[in-house]
Amino acid sequence: MRQAKTNDWVVPSCGHRCRQFGRVRAFNQIRNNEVRVSRLHGKLDLCHECVQKLAIRCPACGRMILVYDEVRLLTPDKSDFSLDKGVIWCPQSSKELVGCFYKDCVPGALGGILMPDKGNKEHGVRVDMTILGM
Ligand SMILES: [Zn+2]
Ligand SMILES: [Zn+2]
Repeated sequence: MRQAKTNDWVVPSCGHRCRQFGRVRAFNQIRNNEVRVSRLHGKLDLCHECVQKLAIRCPACGRMILVYDEVRLLTPDKSDFSLDKGVIWCPQSSKELVGCFYKDCVPGALGGILMPDKGNKEHGVRVDMTILGM
């Protein structure tokens, strides 16, 4: 779907009025971000600031992973992956690490979509995440 060029103010369900398109900074990286409709409740979900607070990092390539990203699950063997700040274990299995789904990263099937947990209501608190589609 083609986006209009306007960058309107929106009020996501986290309650923080923001522009629809913005930027997220994490791990010395910058990524463009869009406030999207949540697959969980069908309303606009989190503002850029909240998305930024939930940013995690791929243990294989180090790139940032944001909620609503497709992810693959990586089974750590030997010391292939670094457990740097921001790297998380899969919330549902805790035997696998959550990695990015970029084509040029390590191979692997789609694991699911990284989502903020349904219970996420509070701003400024690191909330649990869940992987949709597992
Ligand atoms: Zn917010
Ligand atoms: Zn990666």
